[in-house]
Amino acid sequence: MSVVRPMVNRDSQFFWDGTKLGELRIQRCNACGAVRFPPGPACQSCDAYDRGHVVAAGTGTVYSYVVHRHPPVPGKELPIVIALIDLVDGVRMVGEVVDVADDEIEIGMPLRVDFNRVDDDLTLPVWRRA
Ligand code: ZN
Repeated sequence: MSVVRPMVNRDSQFFWDGTKLGELRIQRCNACGAVRFPPGPACQSCDAYDRGHVVAAGTGTVYSYVVHRHPPVPGKELPIVIALIDLVDGVRMVGEVVDVADDEIEIGMPLRVDFNRVDDDLTLPVWRRA
C-alpha cells in the first residue's frame, strides 16, 4: 500500500516506536516536566536537552480542521478530514480524523486515538469520534 510516509528522525523516533506499540507518545522534558509537540531537541520552558516522553491518554477535542479535497494523496480516498486536536495531556497535534463525514466534523468534537498499522515499519495514529 502506498502512503505518505512521515519523516522519522532522532527527534521523532520515539513517537513512531510508540505508535507501533499502540501508544501515543508525547515528548516531555526530564528536567522540568514540560510536555511539547512537535518534538524537538531542546525544552522550550527550561532549555534542557534531557528528553523523555509520556504516553498520552489518547483523547482530545477538535480545535480546528480542514477538509482536504484536492490534490490527490497517495493511498487515500478523498476527501479526508485533518484536524488540529487539543489533547487532554496539554499539547495540540495534527491528525487525520476517520469515520467522521466532512459535513459532520465540528470544533469541540471529542475524539480518541486509534492506530492504523500500515506495515512492519509504520503505524499511523488516526482519530475517531469518542
Ligand atoms: Zn524543561
